[in-house]
Amino acid sequence: MLARPEESLGMPAAKPMRRLRLLIPRSFNSDAAVVVSPTIRSFGISWALPRMAADTLLGWWNWPGKLSSSIWNLAPLCLMWCLWRERNGRTFEDMESSDDQLLASFSGTLFDWSRAWGLTSNFNVRSFYNKLRRPLPIIFPWKGVWKVKAPRRVSFFVWTVVWNKILTGDNLRGRGMVFVDWCIMCRGDGETVDHLLLHCSKAHKLWSLVFRSFGISWVLPRTAADTLLGWWNWPGKLSSSIWNLAPLCLMWCLWRERNGRTFEDMESSDDQLLASFSGTLFDWSRAWGLTSSESLPLFLNSLLL
Ligand SMILES: [Zn+2]
Repeated sequence: MLARPEESLGMPAAKPMRRLRLLIPRSFNSDAAVVVSPTIRSFGISWALPRMAADTLLGWWNWPGKLSSSIWNLAPLCLMWCLWRERNGRTFEDMESSDDQLLASFSGTLFDWSRAWGLTSNFNVRSFYNKLRRPLPIIFPWKGVWKVKAPRRVSFFVWTVVWNKILTGDNLRGRGMVFVDWCIMCRGDGETVDHLLLHCSKAHKLWSLVFRSFGISWVLPRTAADTLLGWWNWPGKLSSSIWNLAPLCLMWCLWRERNGRTFEDMESSDDQLLASFSGTLFDWSRAWGLTSSESLPLFLNSLLL
């Protein structure tokens, strides 16, 4: 049974594990983004939430490095709790907090709980709240672009991608050009940078191949910048130069294919596109001495190790 929300205001009555069981089945809704994204960034990191609450908590616990703190571990529970309380207020009591009120209530609750558990002596609720309220800074993923061993022109290309400056349909329209708004890859949605390179069905096939090859499961963030930020030196065995190279290679291959279709009326099949991407990644990895594999199949197998 859920405790009455007001009973736990200020003090966690139950041990966190009990709350965890209560709240795991509830996944985030879009309103949650108001609190979730600023919270993650207020700890100075960038992370795209997994699709499921359970996966979020699995990935969250004792985040590598300086984030392995008790307050960090407490934050998602507190956050889900505040969202659930807000949702119940709206559903049953016709009470609705503004975004600012919700952020303030979350900061206050996290502060109270941290103090009650002796986790902090210097947690400053006002500065935490102010940090949450500030508009999200644009963090440029410079390592993910410039420290990757990739051909220079590819790094330049991805750099313009991050600044949303490549000449996709939406950007051309911004310059006053008039044409049909569609994506030549999937023949559907309009062509924006993030659609073309991340969320288009053709792009999705390539990203899935990468995730399968490296044996991981991850949901792509909304923008290319966030993708590269979260990608760089993935914890553990994935901190390899080939891993860091993969998104640049992928975006480059997609862009080449898109240009082939747009300007030269040449179209690769899905299989050809996948093969061209794997082949390019293999060639670049060999050219930079990142792999000792002698053939493409051996190379692909080596990624899983
Ligand atoms: Zn598309």
